[in-house]
Amino acid sequence: MKRILTGDRPTSDSFHLGNYVGSLKNRVKLQDEYETFILVADLHALTTHFEKTADLEKNIRGLMLGYLSVGLDPRKVTFCLQSQITGTTELAYILSTLTQRAVLERQPALKEKLDQGAQDTLALYYYPVLMAADILIPRAHLVPVGKDQKAHVEFARDIAMKFNNLYGEVFPIPEPLIGEVPTLPGTDGQAKMGKSLNNAIFLTDSPQEVEKKVMGMYTDPKRIHQTDPGTVEGNPVFIYLDAFGSESDKLQTTNYKLLYSKGQVGDIEVKKYLAKVLNNFLYSIRKKRAEYEKQPDLVDKILKEGTEKARQEAQSTLQEVKKAMKLDYFE
Ligand code: ATP
Ligand code: MG
Repeated sequence: MKRILTGDRPTSDSFHLGNYVGSLKNRVKLQDEYETFILVADLHALTTHFEKTADLEKNIRGLMLGYLSVGLDPRKVTFCLQSQITGTTELAYILSTLTQRAVLERQPALKEKLDQGAQDTLALYYYPVLMAADILIPRAHLVPVGKDQKAHVEFARDIAMKFNNLYGEVFPIPEPLIGEVPTLPGTDGQAKMGKSLNNAIFLTDSPQEVEKKVMGMYTDPKRIHQTDPGTVEGNPVFIYLDAFGSESDKLQTTNYKLLYSKGQVGDIEVKKYLAKVLNNFLYSIRKKRAEYEKQPDLVDKILKEGTEKARQEAQSTLQEVKKAMKLDYFE
């Protein structure tokens, strides 16, 4: 069975709508077809949140609840905690010997993070190397991610090819799988919704919070009166309606798009409809989360056992890596 590896940073105790359409949805869809490893990437969280390690425990639990609430099945999926899979950082060092510094300096995510105020640390540059190790250590074939992570998966591909050419075929060449909405915009109209960007609708938001966030959402700034023709293309309200509406919402959404572009419906009416659509979508997710919230020991056990399995996998890959590289002097 081919493998999936993907993960998330515990920078919040909940996922948002962007995480869902960018990556989680594909993971749920593919969990029967692929042996799936899901990584809670606490080491990656340190690149921007090293001053907030006190929140890690709460956030790790929150993400675990998030996975289970969207329908990832713990009988099929291996959930694991990055910092406990010690082989990963060792492999990352090995991969760094095959990495040109200029490639890391050119990575698009770096400039973005620095612009957002991240500290200019070595770990921030090293991010793609560690992520390549995350992907390669369980020898994954497919990596379901949002578009912001695509360049990192491509980096992992390149480095896997380089390694295999130099030392022999150890790694499958991983491929990115981008979600149905490659980058969901934020409620503020910014290009990307982010856990740490203060522009997210979280899967844990209450119906009232969802409604409040939606009513305050960015729409078409050029539209002042309800009779002004509005822009549908690129408007987050309509992007969310397309992404989260059910089959039976399609007709009404098309109708609203037409009325909006002609200036025949107000923002408030469309937003009220969107809040309803989102709350319908979130209904079963909230229900499932509430069930797992009652079983914290079970949730911890799922992560602990998964981490143990991932650690064993990592050790066995590392052994092959060292053998291929002639770093197995004592064997
Ligand atoms: P942070 O702001 O702390 O980096 P994040 O929201 O970017 O948080 P990550 O944990 O970095 O979340 O990413 C988890 C997964 O969700 C990745 O596959 C990423 O590509 C995807 N993702 C994140 N934001 C979006 C978005 N707005 N649209 C689509 N996919 C997204
Ligand atoms: Mg991110």
